[in-house]
Amino acid sequence: MADMASSHDLFERAKRVIPGGVNSPVRAFHAVGGTPVFIASGRGSRLVTSDGRELIDFCGSWGPLILGHAHPEVVSAVSAAAANGTSFGAATRGEVELAELLCRQIPYADRVRLVNSGTEAVMTALRLARAHTGRDLILKFDGCYHGHADQLLVAAGSGLLTQGVATSKGIPQAVLDSTLVLPYNDLAAVEQAVTAHADSLAAIIVEPVAGNMGLVAPAPGFLEGLRKLADQTGTVLVFDEVITGFRLGPTTYGRLCGVTPDLTCLGKIIGGGLPIGAVAGPAGIMDRLAPVGEVYQAGTLSGNPVAVAAGLATLHAVIRDNPYPRLAELGTRIRQAVAAAGRAVHCAQLGGMFTIFFTPTAVGNKQDATRSNTRGYARFFHSMLDSGIYLPPAQFELAFVSAAHSDEDIELFLAAFGKAMQESPLA
Ligand code: PMP
Repeated sequence: MADMASSHDLFERAKRVIPGGVNSPVRAFHAVGGTPVFIASGRGSRLVTSDGRELIDFCGSWGPLILGHAHPEVVSAVSAAAANGTSFGAATRGEVELAELLCRQIPYADRVRLVNSGTEAVMTALRLARAHTGRDLILKFDGCYHGHADQLLVAAGSGLLTQGVATSKGIPQAVLDSTLVLPYNDLAAVEQAVTAHADSLAAIIVEPVAGNMGLVAPAPGFLEGLRKLADQTGTVLVFDEVITGFRLGPTTYGRLCGVTPDLTCLGKIIGGGLPIGAVAGPAGIMDRLAPVGEVYQAGTLSGNPVAVAAGLATLHAVIRDNPYPRLAELGTRIRQAVAAAGRAVHCAQLGGMFTIFFTPTAVGNKQDATRSNTRGYARFFHSMLDSGIYLPPAQFELAFVSAAHSDEDIELFLAAFGKAMQESPLA
């Protein structure tokens, strides 16, 4: 039953007991203004807010809900698992099945370690990379987000080959000093940095399709180039596929594009909407993890039976039903309609992921992305919300279509888009 307390009242109460009223900053709507909507329930492609409004959801909990909300098979798997005991802190059969399934779908993974979030997956992958190489330095790309571990809350400083600057207070300088930040898609810059730091570079970490500056696809040859440079210097190549894993096919983007990373970080879809993360890779690196090896990593709730059941149900469904061609078709329809509007916006899209950028020019890196008119996006977001469409409440994020979206949902999205374009003097 919908809780009928208004979003406004709930937000006022929340701010008294939760910093900023939310448990993850982007939910506070600071990027778009206004009061965040509180969600009472979700089913299929639809959300119901605490105010009793129905919205068509194109945020999908930021990626996990490829099947939509409350998919009957996921709900049934979760209910059965919960009724059977919610946590044991001991090994269970479901963990074995999920790890076996992931190794089957990702041929370059021999081993999987389950954790509780994407952040944890990345922390574990980087610790493994450092142990494997005996080196400390990490190379990341500006605009890629890899969770909120100290070493990754870093943006580009001025100029190439410089150390990054913290994107949060509370990060020790010593930690910052161990992360290099370069522009996405700039292979020449990577080549320079890798050459200069060949003896100290432990890992290159990248979103193989970037989703955290809005959608930015890898330029032709970029990922292949990273693979080559990592090989030449004995550096561990980490693909952060927390978003892209099982989003574009029933496997990783690395598998789909034919570039094999050393380690893969997963999350979101593999937990079907419950908290999970995973690191996957070859035995030669993964078996450095305790209790076999000397890299410590642990978790009271790791491999939680309810999360594992939701993940297994989701992955079995996408493998069986292959929703991917249809997701790509719906995504393409949105991209083409945005292009046809002939406004100063464009839609970057891959499969069922897309970003409507408020700039007419293509976005290939963070610097390009920041040319976007974020005030225009904010206005657009609220116009769409008024029309019953829920998009990510920030410009530099991904929107998602799910297997639960109908043709009618897409028609309604496009009608709302047309109306928003008419209303907006900025676009
Ligand atoms: N990596 C990527 C690419 C992400 O998009 C995110 C979160 N959106 C993370 C890591 C962190 O995952 P989590 O929020 O589950 O810690």
